[in-house]
Amino acid sequence: MNLILLFEEDFTDGLRKVRLSGRRLRHIREVHCAKVGDTLCAGLEGGPIGSGKVTFLDEEVLEMDIALSRRPPEPLPLTLVLALPRPKVLRRVLFSVTALGVKRIVLVNSYRVEKSFWESPVLHRDNIRKQLILGLEQSRDTILPEVLLRERFRPFVEDELPELARETLRIVAHPHAAEECPRGSDRPVILAIGPEGGFISYEIEKLASAGFSAVSLGDRVLPVETAVPFLISRCC
Ligand code: SAM
Repeated sequence: MNLILLFEEDFTDGLRKVRLSGRRLRHIREVHCAKVGDTLCAGLEGGPIGSGKVTFLDEEVLEMDIALSRRPPEPLPLTLVLALPRPKVLRRVLFSVTALGVKRIVLVNSYRVEKSFWESPVLHRDNIRKQLILGLEQSRDTILPEVLLRERFRPFVEDELPELARETLRIVAHPHAAEECPRGSDRPVILAIGPEGGFISYEIEKLASAGFSAVSLGDRVLPVETAVPFLISRCC
């Protein structure tokens, strides 16, 4: 936890003092080994970042004086459209793309997504939020990404994607594509990444009709959780 993410309900005196318990208290005691007088990096969800000075600490509660003045880091100009991966992978991908600064993530169905993945508790709002918060704490950010769940591929691509993709560079990562993945786009990017079995031809064609170019990283076929950060850092 490189930043203690604070929520309005943590504050006891305007935006000047907080009282924390639970996970953040345990982490600050056990990992930061903080003492009264120490200063930690803190930030308000959706707002500025700054510091928290520990004024009281015991096993039950931590109190800090808070001073927030800086803006959080710039968001990454990229929308991720990701075929729903298996729950364990999804958890890690939500964490890592949040840490990278992605602010919109669309989890979409695809022919080769196992139906049972849509039933996973990882998709419950609170569990998604937990991973996003861990990603923000990791990267010293405060702005939660928006996560959209789209269980039907075709209506999503036909009805919603054109608006989401407006004025962006549109790419779909596909190991067998002839075109090489671009490097360092000077425009915002919308990037589609397939499921473990890859997108089927019909899906690549639908995405192409929404203006997406299929691009490859070369002969190495990467697992989804490796492909995601590689592709994002390559094209942004
Ligand atoms: N057997 C699948 C195939 O050949 O399409 C492999 C899919 S791969 C495990 C999962 C997703 O990661 C792909 O659909 C693609 O979006 C992305 N990916 C992995 N390796 C890639 C590569 N070399 N080039 C482009 N995309 C890649």
